Amino acid sequence: MHHFICDGCGREMKPDDTRYRVKIDIRVAKGNLEFSLLDLFRDHRKELEDLVKKFESKDPKELEETIYKGFELDLCPTCQRAYIRDPLRFHPEQGLPDTGIDIDAFLRSLGTHPDDLAEPDA
Ligand SMILES: [Zn+2]
Repeated sequence: MHHFICDGCGREMKPDDTRYRVKIDIRVAKGNLEFSLLDLFRDHRKELEDLVKKFESKDPKELEETIYKGFELDLCPTCQRAYIRDPLRFHPEQGLPDTGIDIDAFLRSLGTHPDDLAEPDA
């Protein structure tokens, strides 16, 4: 017989118990992909070489997760109530340390960061 384990509290749930499925899509949000004429003529090689060098030491999976990560969780009714009340502070002690990858700097180097697009012309 197939059993589900609550991803919140670890409680075992029987197939006919009420359980909740949480789907989480975490993806990088960036501004409009707008390039100026100047961007087309700019030499990106040095920037790309620096980026490759910087990310060479990173785990590809970790790098991928800075762009997109999907989760599916099974929750028991108790954890579902706790989750919808405060999704961002649901078991905060389970948080992991920072990966050390600066996604902001990466987007900025591509010239697609929203802050850069908002800058007035010099
Ligand atoms: Zn639970």
